[in-house]
Amino acid sequence: MARRSPIVIAGQRVGPGQTRTIDLPVSETYHGEAVVTPVRVVRARRPGPRLLITAAVHGDELNGLGIVRELMFDENLRPSAGTLMCVPVVNMPAVESQSRYVPDRRDLNRSFPGSPAGSMAARIAHTIFHGVVRQADFCVDLHTAAVQRTNYPNVRADLRNPGARRLATAFGCELIVSGKGPEGSLRRCACEAGVPTIILEAGEVWKIEPSVVEIGVRGVRNVMIELGMLQGEPARPVYQTRVEKTTWARATLGGLLWFHVAPGDLVEAGQPLATNSSVFGEGRAVLIAPCDGIVLGMTTLPAVRPGEPVCHIAQPTRSLASIRRALERRGDSLARRLRRDLSTSVHVTEPEA
Ligand SMILES: [Zn+2]
Repeated sequence: MARRSPIVIAGQRVGPGQTRTIDLPVSETYHGEAVVTPVRVVRARRPGPRLLITAAVHGDELNGLGIVRELMFDENLRPSAGTLMCVPVVNMPAVESQSRYVPDRRDLNRSFPGSPAGSMAARIAHTIFHGVVRQADFCVDLHTAAVQRTNYPNVRADLRNPGARRLATAFGCELIVSGKGPEGSLRRCACEAGVPTIILEAGEVWKIEPSVVEIGVRGVRNVMIELGMLQGEPARPVYQTRVEKTTWARATLGGLLWFHVAPGDLVEAGQPLATNSSVFGEGRAVLIAPCDGIVLGMTTLPAVRPGEPVCHIAQPTRSLASIRRALERRGDSLARRLRRDLSTSVHVTEPEA
């Protein structure tokens, strides 16, 4: 895995033992000034794998920037072998406009591997993909839930790809959602190009959430240890399960929601998830869990119309009973903090008897 070929980004070479921040031109403003995205390359003297961390492919998903910032400041995370490459802002024009999308209204994460003569999104994708991604051996792409939703931290990976499976397991989230990702997504195209890639989905848009940053940094550190880039003991989750299927519980009535579960909670089929009432508290309906599972994501908007998604339930391949036993045997303070922090976005109460 220790490639000997040089690392060259935007014409600049990074040799063994060097750390460089390189501005990669990705587009131009209306008056023709270069729009650049910074790429940080930290290369150890000892050869080893090249791990790429990317964030803000969607411009409103800022948690990944918080994770990269910690990775850059923490001397303990300097690789002792191999190379850590970070692109904290893949989609610079979208971050500048606080939007998920490129200014041409395309989704950059459906535009990979891109094209040098295509749309604005296709050109940015092409520059990032050929200029950076293809020089990596592995990649972790950092995301959050879409607007008005939050995600309990989970990794998503094509588990038939051995490299992606290795990263997903090592990262150390409790939940690994299986799937190769949508057509045109960075992770799917990178895997197809021989760069095993997983994504982290954690928290909300427009925030840098401390406990999400913590699990992201912990996960990257775990991956670096797995790849032989760092010495140390990985931090393992209390339980880990694959998820092959997820289901949205949707509102049956229009109204306001009082939630009875928080992100990360274990739920059984038939258990109340949320109570839906009119603005005066009338017309109550209780939304129940359609299946056994774990709360993977939730709406953060407490007002719904019929059919709108309320609660995203992950159906684990491992039994809930065995997960429950594992949680009883050993506490996980970070997982507990995550459940508490993420549920501050939603009002969680006990269901009425
Ligand atoms: Zn995203």
